[in-house]
Amino acid sequence: MISTGSSKADLFLRAATRIPGRRRFLHLVGAAAAATTLAAATPARLAARTRVVLLGTAGGPTVLTPDRAGVSTAVVHDGRIYLVDLGIGAYWRLVRSGLAPGPAAGDLLGNVRGIFFTHLHSDHVADWPALYVTGVSNAIGRTGPPIQVWGPPARPALPRVFPPGRPAPPVVGPAEPGPGITDLTDHLGQAFAADLNDRARDSALAGPESVFHVQDIDLAGIWTPDPEGRPPRLRTPIRVWQDGEVTVTATLVDHHPAAPAFAYRFDTPDGSVVISGDTGVSPNLIDLARNADYLVHEVIDPRFVDELVTRLPPDRAGPMREHLLAAHTTIDQVGAHVAEPAAVRTLVLNHLVPATTPEHRWRDAQRGFSGRLIVGSDLQVLPLGR
Ligand SMILES: [Zn+2]
Ligand SMILES: [Zn+2]
Repeated sequence: MISTGSSKADLFLRAATRIPGRRRFLHLVGAAAAATTLAAATPARLAARTRVVLLGTAGGPTVLTPDRAGVSTAVVHDGRIYLVDLGIGAYWRLVRSGLAPGPAAGDLLGNVRGIFFTHLHSDHVADWPALYVTGVSNAIGRTGPPIQVWGPPARPALPRVFPPGRPAPPVVGPAEPGPGITDLTDHLGQAFAADLNDRARDSALAGPESVFHVQDIDLAGIWTPDPEGRPPRLRTPIRVWQDGEVTVTATLVDHHPAAPAFAYRFDTPDGSVVISGDTGVSPNLIDLARNADYLVHEVIDPRFVDELVTRLPPDRAGPMREHLLAAHTTIDQVGAHVAEPAAVRTLVLNHLVPATTPEHRWRDAQRGFSGRLIVGSDLQVLPLGR
């Protein structure tokens, strides 16, 4: 799938560079028209006014299979696209999804309104640098305000070392060891300055800030993450954004010691979608997900953890197993202990760890859950409303 998208793009670029001036412009317009025709040919159910599109469903930074890209989810309402996380390969899955108005004309991001990062682990943000530094070239023809980007604020305290008593490893970036999404993105500008300056001076391209407006979610008065990273119980969700008919709220989930970590809820006139990010069983998440039409939730196969810890000395294996499982939600927990008390209509499993566990094993999440269970797959489309 990925190579198909890549070769199409290569073919387009080669064709575009062969055609000078006004003819190149007409060629671009023609390509956009062809893309529109393709989109119009998709079955009606794929064109529901509001829908969730699973772009990538693999969890963790280890790449195990080309069948599942890194975790990323699109919520679509009335042609507007909201992306949650951008794991490894999410960029190409967005191309393959058909959501873009004219990817062949450099308008991949034309309909993207917002990007939301649950937390800053690499398996959730790996494609953000690619999207950010090439954004201007992939938002040609985009009008209106910049894409609104939200994510965690900086973490003032490093996570504690595990197990207790182990000597602390060297700190990466000691002057700023826990940058948030705005700091991370500012550093991207510096890291890619050669490219951005070349294009600004030689091709009069605007900078990425013309396409993206990046903001930290403000936790002032709510929580300052400590080294343990266990979030407080929230009585009300955090309001993030209102974009026309779409309301985005968030809560703090428990991915300790990684913190802060967010789940997001999208409420639309056609229904609601909640995306968990990485978390153990979280009362805050259960509150946020109450009565949602879709809960897209992470899951881990405990047998995988059992195999991982067999490589450790016996006295370390037990604590490490508990430690890994506390930051994630197991197959047995996600249906019975999260989706059921939240009374969600449909539980959709994503961020599958490992991505190679067979589907029948993930289906065990149905035990203790009375709603519908979907084991997510890449590019799966889930309609909302009528
Ligand atoms: Zn993850
Ligand atoms: Zn994580």
